[in-house]
Amino acid sequence: MTAASLSVAIIGAGPAGAYVAERLVRKNPAAQIDVIDRLPTPFGLIRYGVAPDHQGTKNIERVLSRAFTKGDVQFWGGLKVGADLSLADIQANYDAVVLAVGAPQDRRLGIAGEDLAGVYGSAAFVGWYNRHPDHFDLPVDLSAAGNAIIIGAGNVALDVARVLAKTPAELSGSDVPPDVSRQLQSAPWERIRVVGRRGIEMARFGVVELDEMTRLAAAAAKVEAADLEGAEIADRALAEVWARMATAALTGRPVVRFQFCWRPEAIIGSADRVTAVRFRRQQQGLDGAYFDAEETVEQAADLVVSCIGYAAETCDQLHPAKGHFLNTDGRISTALYTVSWAADGPTGTIATNRPKSHAVADRILAEVTAGTRSGRAYLTKVAQQNRASVTDFAGWQAIDAAERAAAPADRVRLKQLPNTIASL
Ligand code: NAP
Repeated sequence: MTAASLSVAIIGAGPAGAYVAERLVRKNPAAQIDVIDRLPTPFGLIRYGVAPDHQGTKNIERVLSRAFTKGDVQFWGGLKVGADLSLADIQANYDAVVLAVGAPQDRRLGIAGEDLAGVYGSAAFVGWYNRHPDHFDLPVDLSAAGNAIIIGAGNVALDVARVLAKTPAELSGSDVPPDVSRQLQSAPWERIRVVGRRGIEMARFGVVELDEMTRLAAAAAKVEAADLEGAEIADRALAEVWARMATAALTGRPVVRFQFCWRPEAIIGSADRVTAVRFRRQQQGLDGAYFDAEETVEQAADLVVSCIGYAAETCDQLHPAKGHFLNTDGRISTALYTVSWAADGPTGTIATNRPKSHAVADRILAEVTAGTRSGRAYLTKVAQQNRASVTDFAGWQAIDAAERAAAPADRVRLKQLPNTIASL
């Protein structure tokens, strides 16, 4: 690196971090970028958050790979900030630092029974079926699961409902791991409820994602016509999908039942395991606000997954507030920036977060002066101290090839866990 090259450390190798790196080197080809991730593999939410049956979306990894192979960008996997190295040391050794650490923690419902066995947040449950190193061993037992309740009316709720409702043949070509496949196949599902606390017009489902629910091989998606009455659904395509669902014959199993205006009030269990969820009916006042009605209902549940959003987690000494890192247009403090879900909370798709990441990269280029620091030399020393666990991009490519080679016949890959990766 020449003395005048800009050195930037990006913490987090998910799509947001990759988009920042991509932009920085495109606009400043002399920049030296180090992308650090606590996991040995890059791509964060693409690898562990995008549903395993949505391989088309996961294929964006190929595009993101370019961010690590163009210009002077290096991937450093298996280094945890706050354990293997400190944020303060990174800041001292780089011209700028970007927190692209996402929002990996589940938001809590804050109701009784949330910690019963069989109740999971979507970060944990999605992590389980995506073989995330933190969640692959979640003690999920679906062998007697007839009823699932999914709380929340967003696209993650649809992902979870769809993965549960699909037949083994429909999961062919995914990367659902073998132990998860066994659990999914063992479940004698009757009913999967997806429950929104507000009206149907407030649901945040994407039209493509909702439509997919009506095209499952065995399951039948259903909404009551009463839920559609008087609802002003602005998106015509979405309204059409709902109308089709309201009139569909209920011939399939399981039934995926969409319900609205039910606020979860308590999760009920016996012998420490979930058995039901109690909901309180919501009504809408003339001002549009929802309020509690008298009516409550208890619905049986062997599995509850709350898909109500995520929060960022502490990065070394830096704490998020209200689920994200406080910032002004991506800037936390001098030479410290943040992007995407870590900056704004868990909103938007991969595509909508790209321009936001680019904007933060542009801001860095406009505000930060290249110094004489070589973060790379510092990081190389840190990596040498952690040699057994650190992967570079070539290391990831070897893992990728090994995972594809180990895939069962109807899967695209068999994800490795960090302990097996170390021996590859
Ligand atoms: P989301 O879209 O924000 O939906 C969260 C849902 O949880 C909302 O229906 C919300 O209801 C409900 N909720 C929040 N707090 C609640 C509580 N205490 N009790 C009951 N319900 C509660 O979040 P998400 O589904 O986690 O998705 C996150 C982001 O990733 C979104 O931008 C989403 O589009 C994106 N994503 C995209 C795809 C895709 O493109 N295929 C797939 C997955 C995720 P209220 O509206 O009443 O607050």
